[in-house]
Amino acid sequence: MWDGRKAFKHVRRFFDSTAVNNLAVGEKVLFKIKKTNRYLLIIFLVLLVSCESEDIVEPIIEPDPETKIYRIPVVVHVIHLGEPIGEGHNLSKERIEGQIRILNEDYRRKEGTRGFNTHPNGGDARIEFVLAKSAPDGTRTDGIIRINANDVNNPVNPSKRFDYYAYYSYWDPEKYLNIWTEPLPESAMDIVLGSATGPETDLPGVELLLPGEPHQSEGVLINSPHFGESAIDSEYNLGRTLTHEVGHYLGLLHTWGGGDCENNDYCDDTPAVSNPVFGCPAEASPGCDGQEIMIENYMNYTHDRCMNTFTNDQISRMHYVLENSPGRKTLLNSPGLDKP
Ligand SMILES: [Zn+2]
Repeated sequence: MWDGRKAFKHVRRFFDSTAVNNLAVGEKVLFKIKKTNRYLLIIFLVLLVSCESEDIVEPIIEPDPETKIYRIPVVVHVIHLGEPIGEGHNLSKERIEGQIRILNEDYRRKEGTRGFNTHPNGGDARIEFVLAKSAPDGTRTDGIIRINANDVNNPVNPSKRFDYYAYYSYWDPEKYLNIWTEPLPESAMDIVLGSATGPETDLPGVELLLPGEPHQSEGVLINSPHFGESAIDSEYNLGRTLTHEVGHYLGLLHTWGGGDCENNDYCDDTPAVSNPVFGCPAEASPGCDGQEIMIENYMNYTHDRCMNTFTNDQISRMHYVLENSPGRKTLLNSPGLDKP
């Protein structure tokens, strides 16, 4: 019986407990006034009203850790090759907004969408993504930047992919989730889907993720045909590449982790496996300890239409990152979330 993989414990979520509910309740004082003089009564009432200046201190209510929603501002840098908006790599606004909607359906396990599941270990990650409303310079934005790569002489070696795309456009990664759509040749479709940098965290297994700042620019890269829902001839055409990559960005490993049964994804509720599952098999084969492999997990390699589950342990891992990682917790208070 194999039992060596259960290293990830539910991580305690830390919430700032400095805000004490220090209520100054306005006291109500009752007076009994004798009917002695009508004028005295009127003067008294006028004084009472004009002197009423109770200092009511609103209680500071900390979000319930079980229902708190984490909101992350997103900027999408569309790197194109000079096509008009809506054609080729220059993705339409509708397509981009549709991708963000899909991301939210998946991270919120929304009923009535492809992101809903009834898996006993599946959960609502309570993470929401918002196209940025304010740019770094404080101006209003729709969270979409378009760069014609043909107009820019980019000196960065393309093999350094994150730095290469960041040269075109990059917003403060502590305040925005930077997503670039890559204008790769058609031959790269279904071969290069996307990649992401992982967070700075003390969670086990993070060394399996790509490092972000200060080693390289930080964010998510998606090959443009796989960004959002589209009619391309591909099994990766429903926007799940981004769901998967953002999972890495928030600290999740593949379900097969380090590629053997001993070094897995540090989540107790995703059955241990040593290899990815490709395609969309009708029946899940048994994993390392005989349990069915979770082919519907977003952190597997199955087709977009087969994925619909983040487990509760995966969600705990992402919440731990959002509460503690230096480059992630700052996103939650980003000015990019609000209009200028
Ligand atoms: Zn991956």
